[in-house]
Amino acid sequence: MEFSQVNEKIVAVAQDYCERYKIEPNEEFAALKLYEEVGEFAQAFLIHERMSRPEKFMDEKDSRELVAQELADIVGMALFMAHTLNIDIEEALEKKWLKKHE
Ligand SMILES: [Mg+2]
Repeated sequence: MEFSQVNEKIVAVAQDYCERYKIEPNEEFAALKLYEEVGEFAQAFLIHERMSRPEKFMDEKDSRELVAQELADIVGMALFMAHTLNIDIEEALEKKWLKKHE
């Protein structure tokens, strides 16, 4: 699947979420959700690295999956954040990550 298709689908999923829960799909919501997901990633990573309370420990395969899910949430919300700001994220990635390192 092309990046643009992935991006469009992720934006559509975020918009559906907002519609379902009657939330304005604006940049403030996107920014706060992005921070929330970063926090969830930190929590998952702490559990995975066994730097959390022992009662939160889980099987390594499961904690790794949780870390993967939270990273996916960060990427998804970052894409939605870009959408709410009308930023062409594909172009921004190209400029910031790819062209600089050619
Ligand atoms: Mg999450």
